[in-house]
Amino acid sequence: MKFSDLSVYLEKLENTSSRNAMTEILASIFQRASREEIDKISYLLLGELLPAYKGLEFNIAEKIMTQALALAFDQSPAYITKKYKSAGDLGNVAHELAQQQKNKKAKNFSVNYLYDALLEIAAESGEGSQERKIKKMAELLSNLDARSVKFVVRMPLGKMRLGFSEATILDALSVANKGDKSARPLIERAYNVTADIGAITKKIKMGGLAMLKKIETNPGVPVRPSLAERLPGAVETIKKAGPLVGVEKKLDGFRTQLHAWKEGGQKRIALFSRNLENTTLMFPEITASARKLKTDNIILDGETIGYNAKTGKFAAFQETVQRKRKYEIEEFAKKIPLHIFVFDILHLNGRSLLNLPFRKRRAILEKVIPVQGIGALMLARQTETASPALIEKELGKSVEAGLEGLVVKNLEAPYQAGSRGFHWIKLKATTAALEKLRSGQARGKNQLLDTIDCVIMGGYRGRGKRAGFGVGGLLLGIRGPEDKYYTVSRLGTGLSDEQFREANKRVEKLKAPEMPKSYVADKEIAPDIWARPALVVEILADEITLSPRHTAGRHGSNTRGYSLRFPRLVRFRDDKNPEDATTVEEIKKMYKAQKK
Ligand code: AMP
Repeated sequence: MKFSDLSVYLEKLENTSSRNAMTEILASIFQRASREEIDKISYLLLGELLPAYKGLEFNIAEKIMTQALALAFDQSPAYITKKYKSAGDLGNVAHELAQQQKNKKAKNFSVNYLYDALLEIAAESGEGSQERKIKKMAELLSNLDARSVKFVVRMPLGKMRLGFSEATILDALSVANKGDKSARPLIERAYNVTADIGAITKKIKMGGLAMLKKIETNPGVPVRPSLAERLPGAVETIKKAGPLVGVEKKLDGFRTQLHAWKEGGQKRIALFSRNLENTTLMFPEITASARKLKTDNIILDGETIGYNAKTGKFAAFQETVQRKRKYEIEEFAKKIPLHIFVFDILHLNGRSLLNLPFRKRRAILEKVIPVQGIGALMLARQTETASPALIEKELGKSVEAGLEGLVVKNLEAPYQAGSRGFHWIKLKATTAALEKLRSGQARGKNQLLDTIDCVIMGGYRGRGKRAGFGVGGLLLGIRGPEDKYYTVSRLGTGLSDEQFREANKRVEKLKAPEMPKSYVADKEIAPDIWARPALVVEILADEITLSPRHTAGRHGSNTRGYSLRFPRLVRFRDDKNPEDATTVEEIKKMYKAQKK
């Protein structure tokens, strides 16, 4: 396929906000793509060059792109910047400039050629790499038609603005191959087991949907992590997951998947975060200990956290989080050494263990990691019980130890990659207790079961004292039907000055020229600045209430949506993608539970 043809589809995608229309357009692309290009097209559609877990970054910020545009279209960077200020989108600026160059004939590059060129630009590193990136990008841009230019400029900036995520791609693959969405579960299962959309589209192209049945865990390629449901108490928990359950502490650190495999005669280790970012280089002490594992073909799941082996004490999240950094890694590794508490095993010696009951996986895990651990690799402690009283007691102990609560596990359940379910139940302390824990001050009794992960949809300009921070309030949303984001609350108070500054910096970076089309919001609460859906914040609230102003849960005969009473920011959740935000369905369940 020519890239100019692909960009016709991209433009169609840009111009619709109907999920069905997007699915149809994507399906046509997949039908038309050849087996040599379908994987690359899949990544490009998501604004990437490789699956996200490979950690390849374009490293092209707006400043570099501005210079590339100046060079490509023979203008000054100041002129481009001026244009950008009024258009709000460098892609649109580029589009306009390319249109003005009517007498120049564009080269009609194939998708493969353009992909390779972009890969080459992204791979430029080291001394003088910025200049080389600018030069190569300018060369590429100056040879493209106006429509293609628009998308090639947006891609490295992470601003494709097409308004769909992997979920729509999975639907489209089903439509392309089956004519309807009925193959989605099969495709989704494959994607949950190996989170590489390109590999999946290519497999289907080569041998049809049947090929997906053969997809298994593969060390080196992350598995989408299993997630936990919430329940209000121990009795309900036993009912749902018991009678006999495995009780584990809920550690408050970073979810970490540890992979070891052999490649080119060498043992390779990789670590992946909850949203499948490659964090291998961030935690050298964990990678070093993983080298001591007896096997070189394994996938483990666990939580990485600061831990003092002498006192048996876990670090608070605020301390552990300092290890999420790209620089001074060694120095901080000495200051705040981390351990991974492994609680599951997904693959061992060429065999996927996903379908084994947890009881059996745990038995295998106990053979792989002894009770005393292997360096920084520790075995998560587990107690088997059928007694609600014992669960309550453990919850109390866990909170006293400064932890979040418990995760209670169904011993008979397979590993449910990529899904939230009652195979894992998180029992947290009441929010009041959590608040006490986190800030040292109580705010009264309430019944919310958990914190809520919201997407920042935009910011309101601050007044008075907060005018100095730029943003003085935030619009929060959660995920709902059709892959869209629905408003659930404004966040005004409950942020420290420091958090306001941080919020402002981040919202500025995500600024969108208009309301992103995946948002559903009333005009009355439109923020001064719209932000692209990218930033997740963890919110503590007193209660879920109903409000006519918010769109979360408001549809059909429901004239009121859900809204949060007294929301306050717990922390920025950089480890979560917007797709991981709390859903309208979950809020509905929490709303019902609090009424009991
Ligand atoms: P959630 O992310 O809200 O579904 O809550 C589950 C999270 O708790 C996981 O993603 C882990 O990061 C964390 N966690 C801490 N300890 C455990 C444990 N023992 N088992 C499972 N998850 C745990």
